[in-house]
Amino acid sequence: MPRGPVMAIACLSGVRGGASLKAMDAETPSSSILGHLRGAFAHAAKFALDIALPTLCVACREPVDGEGVCAACWAKLSFIEPPYCPRLGIPFVYDPGPELLSMEAIANPPAYQRARAAVRYDDVARTLVHALKYHDRTDLAPTMGGWMARAGRELLAEADVLVPVPLHWRRGWSRRYNQSGALARAIGRQSGVKVAAEALRRVRATEQQIGLSRAQRASNVQGAFKVAADRMADIQGRRVVLIDDVLTSGATSDACARALLRAKAAQVDVLVFARVVDSHKAPI
Ligand SMILES: [Zn+2]
Repeated sequence: MPRGPVMAIACLSGVRGGASLKAMDAETPSSSILGHLRGAFAHAAKFALDIALPTLCVACREPVDGEGVCAACWAKLSFIEPPYCPRLGIPFVYDPGPELLSMEAIANPPAYQRARAAVRYDDVARTLVHALKYHDRTDLAPTMGGWMARAGRELLAEADVLVPVPLHWRRGWSRRYNQSGALARAIGRQSGVKVAAEALRRVRATEQQIGLSRAQRASNVQGAFKVAADRMADIQGRRVVLIDDVLTSGATSDACARALLRAKAAQVDVLVFARVVDSHKAPI
């Protein structure tokens, strides 16, 4: 904990130096100089206090060095590592060998080619997603995007363009920004892949997917997305990586992938921060 107080002292002495220089230059009565100094100190003290306040872990609210999550919460995040289904990215309990697909990928193949996720959707992941989505914590996007870039490195190595899943304009307006767009921009900066933020549009308002069955989710988002007429060139013939925060049933990703393929995308992969892994349906 020495960082806060040390920074505060450095800040105060810095301002004191600046203030006395100013006082020597100015030909003003001493009372006014004192007043000025008092004001400067009050300002500096407030500024120092702002700096001295430690950053809190976004998940558990404990003080943390740097940004994002503390070491304890980081350890609780369940990063998805191989072996996993090469198609859906669902983790396997054991390695069934290369190219072996999950039962779900065979029974219910999605429109997209491959999906990858950084972490399983559990308590800490949910807290991060909600902080980004509902509490304007855009400062989390570079960290979360970094984990996604790592999980999706083979997708990104082949990608021409990143496309975030759009919000409906009404939701985008009330929430002010699109969390998938923030993640896409962070991944774009880290991977060098171009972001086509406005390429995909939500052309129909959809119900929230929460609480819907798999079939209801699919019909809820069917035909809800479209590539904007003036953005076709960003998509046609391109290998697209669709970016979203959470993958649940895959219905939204699938509907987006269909819209991108209708606009002649060469290939669509999906990269999300967290995916729901249903342990009851764990393959093999
Ligand atoms: Zn924590």
